[in-house]
Amino acid sequence: MSRRAGPVGVLALQGGFEAHERLLRPLGAEVRQVRMPSDLDGLAALVLPGGESTTMMLGIEREGLAAPLAEFAASGRPVLATCAGAIILDDEHLGLIDLHCERNAYGGQIHSFEADLKFDGAGDDPFRGVFIRAPRFTRLGDDVVVLAEHDSAPVAVRERNIFAMSFHPELTADDRIHRRFIEMNLVNNVTDIDRKKAA
Ligand code: GLN
Repeated sequence: MSRRAGPVGVLALQGGFEAHERLLRPLGAEVRQVRMPSDLDGLAALVLPGGESTTMMLGIEREGLAAPLAEFAASGRPVLATCAGAIILDDEHLGLIDLHCERNAYGGQIHSFEADLKFDGAGDDPFRGVFIRAPRFTRLGDDVVVLAEHDSAPVAVRERNIFAMSFHPELTADDRIHRRFIEMNLVNNVTDIDRKKAA
């Protein structure tokens, strides 16, 4: 995986991108809103927020972002996709992660719920998962690793550099998932730069 310093992009066509920004900034990340292909230049990592996947796909098509997003994912830089963000990566949409999402699988808005999750790699404390019109991951490819489950169904997964979650880690004050995500990239670089400066 390539490790480069640079801003973290948040796809800002529609949906809950600001909630991700609010969690990322205090972690020391420079955040850039992504609305067009050139906004992806030089990013270290990318977040695809929750929202409404049909609207988000229309925006991606309108802005010519499908191919640049595929290139970004293929570059090995980390991508964190939450809820609608995960849906747009699936085999019926951009096809950037080998899984299928069943939209609104837990019911509509009134069936939104929260649940404590054991998140692989985030320590022993449970992570509070907020599920809002959440999808269910109904097919996982062989290279997809499950990071968290709810009711024996996967709710957080990873395939290489692509992280997909059916819940909203950005809607709690718990920054462990975002911290891990940017540590995959930025912090290592920042540390390297600091080390060089100090030498
Ligand atoms: N149900 C929405 C969709 O299908 C996703 C909901 C969300 O992102 N919270 O796009």
